[in-house]
Amino acid sequence: MINSAIKGMLTENQEKFLIPAAVVANVLESNNLYHAFLVLTKIKYAKIVVLNNDGKYRGLLSLPMITEQMFETESIDVEKLKSIKVADVMQTDAPTIADPYDVEQDLHLLTDQPFLPVVAENGDFTGIVTRRELFKAINHLVHDMDEEYDIISKDSKMITERE
Ligand code: AMP
Repeated sequence: MINSAIKGMLTENQEKFLIPAAVVANVLESNNLYHAFLVLTKIKYAKIVVLNNDGKYRGLLSLPMITEQMFETESIDVEKLKSIKVADVMQTDAPTIADPYDVEQDLHLLTDQPFLPVVAENGDFTGIVTRRELFKAINHLVHDMDEEYDIISKDSKMITERE
């Protein structure tokens, strides 16, 4: 459980947690890996969301998942990527969330993931929550907490001073 005062400060700007689907780069599961390789290289993200034609979330695709497919024993075959679909190599077991504003769950899952896909109950892709946005909230908390609260040590019963 997160202390309610801390939770209050963490979620003060919670509307910023969600990066909406409309501005999140994606590839389709039916795209071939050649296309996905171009997209991933261009946007410079290491991992990208995979959707189907109806805007439903299907998984995640990373550059290593693609490059692994083009390695032959002693050469690299980029053309081979044209015959492999994104759906054939994407990751489908990455954690997803339904509520971007559940800060406790966000903090827990973002420890191991750089971002979390937000997926509605019907499978619609809503957007992502990124480590960066959560870090901004944590930054606000650690720097501004003592402007809103007196922090008293349980040991000394002394109010800690702002440095
Ligand atoms: P950040 O915390 O902003 O560095 O984002 C973490 C990760 O989330 C990035 O490395 C990307 O994989 C993903 N990401 C962030 N913003 C976008 C976006 N607009 N479109 C697609 N992926 C994104």
